[in-house]
Amino acid sequence: MKKNLFGLMEEAIREEMAPFDIKPFRARQLVDWMYGKSAVSFDEMTNLGQDLRYKLAREFSIDRAKQVERWDSADGKTTKFLLGFPDEVAVESVLMRQPYGNSICISTQAGCAMGCAFCASTLKGLTRDLVAGEMLAQVFFINDYLNKAGEKVDTMVLMGSGEPLYNYANVLSFLRLIHESYCLNFGYRNVTLSTCGIVERIYDLAHEKLPVGLAISLHAPNDEIRRRIMPIARKYPIKDVVKAGEAYFNATGRRVTYEYILIDGVNDSRENARELGHLLAGQNASVNLIPINPVVERCLRRPSDDRVTAFANILHSMHITATVRKEMGTDINAACGQLRNRHLEGNA
Ligand code: SAH
Repeated sequence: MKKNLFGLMEEAIREEMAPFDIKPFRARQLVDWMYGKSAVSFDEMTNLGQDLRYKLAREFSIDRAKQVERWDSADGKTTKFLLGFPDEVAVESVLMRQPYGNSICISTQAGCAMGCAFCASTLKGLTRDLVAGEMLAQVFFINDYLNKAGEKVDTMVLMGSGEPLYNYANVLSFLRLIHESYCLNFGYRNVTLSTCGIVERIYDLAHEKLPVGLAISLHAPNDEIRRRIMPIARKYPIKDVVKAGEAYFNATGRRVTYEYILIDGVNDSRENARELGHLLAGQNASVNLIPINPVVERCLRRPSDDRVTAFANILHSMHITATVRKEMGTDINAACGQLRNRHLEGNA
């Protein structure tokens, strides 16, 4: 298989080309074409001689992602893509047109190994990690799509399928690459990484000192409930997760968001709200309450609106910033992993 250059940093491209006697300065031209001009073939690179273009095409490829399917929500605000890679693995990426700009949600792994009870991404386990170029390919695909309307991707969340901190090296390469001025020049502050709370890796990320936003999927106020719905909670006590979140804030100055899916009769009582309030008291953090998006394969239900409001009000009364997530795209099953599963089952 030819080496794919898409997703590599300029230095790495230089090293890849050296054995073929391609001059170092060519790497800059390549990144300008691939990332700056979104070129998808060496043929487009008109300031490279024909011999060189031929040589590059013989040794290397520029593999991105192809659209397998696309769904648009009725209100036109959410578009979901199933994007495929050369080995036929496909992942979901979502575009949400928010009042503050175009936000995208990308996947970091195909499938997921975490086994959370409420999540569709994990139903079929982990297929494989995505490399940096495959995360970048999702961004480029949606950017190209938006370009036609004179728009672009403004913010992104690493909140699609997969656990980004279990694919740490590839995710870090991706973050560094999008930040490069020759690539997307994307501000770290416009990226949020969501994790189910891999404690050591949160400290590692804090040490990188990239000011990316961090969202931690908490979903419970204590270990007992958390272990029931999130297998990873057996490994990391909830107090250690919150401590890591605090360290992240101290290292980066970025306030952590705790995500909390509200599930009827599981974690949505007044007592649960008070316990959550005590757990997060004094933290420089906010809570994002997410009434569960029911997944057909699981029998977990959404609480009534009144219960959701009551939960939020208890947190407010304890001086915890809490918002209820506005739903987008439920009519196209935009909930995590649901489209990919339908596709794998062949009835999309
Ligand atoms: N592994 C990472 C990122 C992927 S899941 C993590 O755990 O954070 C990220 C988010 O998907 C969850 O926090 C939650 O906000 C959302 N999610 C998953 N299943 C959901 C469901 N059934 N309904 C609503 N949100 C869900």
